[in-house]
Amino acid sequence: MGKALIIGAGGVASVVVHKCVQNSEVFEEIMIASRTKSKCDALKEKLDGGKTIIHTAQVDADNTEELIDLINGFNPDVVINVALPYQDLTIMDACLATKTHYVDTANYEPLDTAKFEYKWQWAYKERFEEAGITALLGSGFDPGVTGVFTAHAQKHHFDEIHYIDIVDANGGDHGLPFATNFNPEINIREITANGRFWKDGEWVETEPLEYKTVYNLPEIGEKDCYLLYHEELESLAKNIKGLKQIRFWMTFGEKYLTHLNVLENVGMTSIEPIEFQGQMIQPIQFLKAVLPDPATLGPLTKGKTNIGCIVRGIKDGKEKTYYVYNVCDHQECYREVGSQAISYTTGVPAMIGAMLVMNGEWQKPGVWNVEDFNPDPFMDALNKWGLPWHETENPELIDLEFTSNGV
Ligand code: NDP
Repeated sequence: MGKALIIGAGGVASVVVHKCVQNSEVFEEIMIASRTKSKCDALKEKLDGGKTIIHTAQVDADNTEELIDLINGFNPDVVINVALPYQDLTIMDACLATKTHYVDTANYEPLDTAKFEYKWQWAYKERFEEAGITALLGSGFDPGVTGVFTAHAQKHHFDEIHYIDIVDANGGDHGLPFATNFNPEINIREITANGRFWKDGEWVETEPLEYKTVYNLPEIGEKDCYLLYHEELESLAKNIKGLKQIRFWMTFGEKYLTHLNVLENVGMTSIEPIEFQGQMIQPIQFLKAVLPDPATLGPLTKGKTNIGCIVRGIKDGKEKTYYVYNVCDHQECYREVGSQAISYTTGVPAMIGAMLVMNGEWQKPGVWNVEDFNPDPFMDALNKWGLPWHETENPELIDLEFTSNGV
């Protein structure tokens, strides 16, 4: 069917490349372009020889002109941005200049402030409309599949959705004292920021990890879940009409939180630049350099992830509850593509989003979040490409009201 340019060659990109190669009818030709070309070449070497033709290139994705030259040289139908959130706008600028569709998995982040806001990317809407191209934002798992799950619940199960709890649980263990499952800098920024949830039309801010609940997750068991802000809350609060409350919960073990507390207390998670041996560095970037590379956790991680949406609302005049979730096994992912489940659950939806943009099912000029589109082809593709989902109309619920530091 066509050509995709994949930017980045880290944990998520590796899964995207594996999945594009498996889906060679759609992805006839791909180019893997990243800062370190040897990582792109290593992926090509591993996967070359099938139907998909693989090219590699070096690119500095902070440099729009370099990106424009690369896109013009390869002429892809879509650019899949799985570099870092800092590169979103330069890549979107290059897509505009070359009239190429755009897909990413994380919202733009300025280097100096942890914001997790869509405003910078949503501001491109008119320009993408005028150029006649689609930008699909946040096509990973969360954001991504969580938005598709919500759109599916809205389309097939509810007349009105009132409450959503997104629960992201990692029941996996890599056996290391401390490591993050995806890019440490982005991961730690997310967890150490203030929490926030949306209630009755307003954002309610919390201290970082202030609220905790215990939830019994299918195939994983009881886990401590902490309320965090997560970027899909912003788009879902805007796009799901009639919503009264939406919260996001992530599981963390005690050992992980103890390490994180110490690192935070000694200043290692700060994004404020400091001078070190004549150079300005951000402590969190230095920390990233000494922590295990998430891409190396694949062989070590055992256990499962479970990410899903618990939805409450009204159907045919009656109150209804509904839970839709995916369970993903770290070791199975590793056997299939050589990565753990966190990269897998992000890379598969990125490939699916790009496929739907390429085949026209999710093509609409402008800048969109996943829940803006018909969820059906995406839900089908999840079953087909390795992330089957389960649903129940009688789930365990999380209390809607908070007591002090818990629910
Ligand atoms: P990694 O750090 O493993 O990979 C990032 C890649 O981007 C690396 O190959 C890196 O190059 C490359 N890169 C960084 N800066 C540049 C640049 N200026 N120019 C070109 N290439 C660059 O991250 P992950 O694979 O874990 O994450 C990728 C993305 O996926 C992130 O945006 C992350 O936030 C997002 N994500 C989304 C999730 C979701 O569910 N929606 C979940 C997990 C992640 P180099 O190899 O040289 O460092």
